Amino acid sequence: MYGIYIHIPFCIRKCPYCDFYSVSSDEDLRRDYLSALKNQILSFGRVEADTVYFGGGTPSLLDPREIADIMALLRRQFDISSGAEVTMECNPATADTAKFRGFIEAGINRLSVGCQSFQDETLRSLGRLHSAEEAKAAVRDAREAGFDNISVDLMLGIPYETPAIAEADALAAAELEVQHVSSYLLRICEGTPFADGVPGIPDDDVQAECYRRFCRVMDESGYRQYEISNFAVPGYESRHNLKYWQCGQWLGFGPGAHMSDSVRRYSFEPDIGRFIFAFRGGPVTDPLALMRDEGTVDAEEYIITSLRTSSGLDTAILSGRYGVRLSAEQLSFIGKCRDAGLAEVSEGHVRLTRDGFLVSNSILSELI
Ligand code: SF4
Repeated sequence: MYGIYIHIPFCIRKCPYCDFYSVSSDEDLRRDYLSALKNQILSFGRVEADTVYFGGGTPSLLDPREIADIMALLRRQFDISSGAEVTMECNPATADTAKFRGFIEAGINRLSVGCQSFQDETLRSLGRLHSAEEAKAAVRDAREAGFDNISVDLMLGIPYETPAIAEADALAAAELEVQHVSSYLLRICEGTPFADGVPGIPDDDVQAECYRRFCRVMDESGYRQYEISNFAVPGYESRHNLKYWQCGQWLGFGPGAHMSDSVRRYSFEPDIGRFIFAFRGGPVTDPLALMRDEGTVDAEEYIITSLRTSSGLDTAILSGRYGVRLSAEQLSFIGKCRDAGLAEVSEGHVRLTRDGFLVSNSILSELI
């Protein structure tokens, strides 16, 4: 079963830490982009899909009618199951209750709100366009509009963060009674303003303590950690993102979007001008020829992504899908991790513990 990812590459203003592909837009660019996007969608054959994800960029900048148009096209072009999870990322600065109602009518049933922090000073240092109160208000407005599956995105390792701040952010998310919380570590990416230097980034020990405190509040608030950076009320795990972590199948539309049939990966280069040029004339007969071949999905990738999840690495999938068995050296290393409390091994699965998640980069580089 496939997932479908739709990239909406527009933002009001670029956040200084962000390396996702996005540009500012005007009416003409938006119209031309949506037209090219529809032609790219029409270029692909029918697949069965049970998740749709509008990511960005800032999909909530679109008008609900534009989202409804894309959804109608997806339903005509693909077999989208009746209980499909349909997520849209939302920047708190871009929507109100009326717009949220429109998104629900358009078919969105899960909202991922990019709050990033509930501290005004931190939000300013991240260059966000909204205050802490506006982020909370967006979540409340979404619920009032009828959303009953809401995720909040937060960040850890942000400038001047302390364990107390991490704990306060986790508590604020829990108090909003959202069903899902993501909390990714700030990555300093090349080519972003933050790469030129950003003061106040906490050291590794402080970041580790922030992570532990964040996780503890999530535990105490009834969320289950199902991925290194993701927590959900049981039953509200992101079905779409699980496809990425389990090396599943998805189609990805738009510049910078990836797609995978779980054997090979493709992407369209992150360039909206080239994208519009490629699909300006209508659907094409061989869309993959216009995309970059990103190579095969191999055992290494499966090991890396599956160990991010609480269900862990399934040795039956490793041997069945990739024809690979863990070597004696790898098994010995996993045994050492288990003895050190960093991993658990049971019923053909290898899982990292929370302490293992904290040093997952080192574990993975040794294992690979
Ligand atoms: S709003 Fe989101 S996608 Fe846009 S620049 Fe900021 S972090 Fe990146």
